[in-house]
Amino acid sequence: MAYDDDNIFAKILRGEIPCDKVHETEHSLAFRDINPQTPVHVLVIPKGKYVSMDDFSANASDAEQADFMRAVGAVARMEGIVENGYRVLSNIGRDGHQEVPHLHMHVFGGKNLGRMIKPIDK
Ligand code: 5GP
Repeated sequence: MAYDDDNIFAKILRGEIPCDKVHETEHSLAFRDINPQTPVHVLVIPKGKYVSMDDFSANASDAEQADFMRAVGAVARMEGIVENGYRVLSNIGRDGHQEVPHLHMHVFGGKNLGRMIKPIDK
């Protein structure tokens, strides 16, 4: 999938629309989800134009990739969810129900999150 410069996270990165910033590094930005599903619901995105994890892992520099992983962990520590646990999740593509075509990790926490997914219909 080609990167769409008009996606909402690209606009946040350009400062065209606001976000509730939690953490920022050289290559990554973390901000609160506008429609939180859990008491802690933060989105961590790379600043580069990457659509998905497969795109990012193949095309981002080592520095961008290290920075992104460190940003996810830093958010968990900053949000105080390390002791009780949390969930990191990325929806990718059609089957993953990705709404915004800019790679993002959801960091969920602040409550018991239950089991990860429902049993699938085969
Ligand atoms: P996806 O389904 O792509 O994994 O999730 C996209 C997430 O982006 C959703 O949880 C949605 O609430 C969040 N979102 C969509 N638009 C905005 C926005 O303008 N600002 C923020 N902070 N989050 C957004």
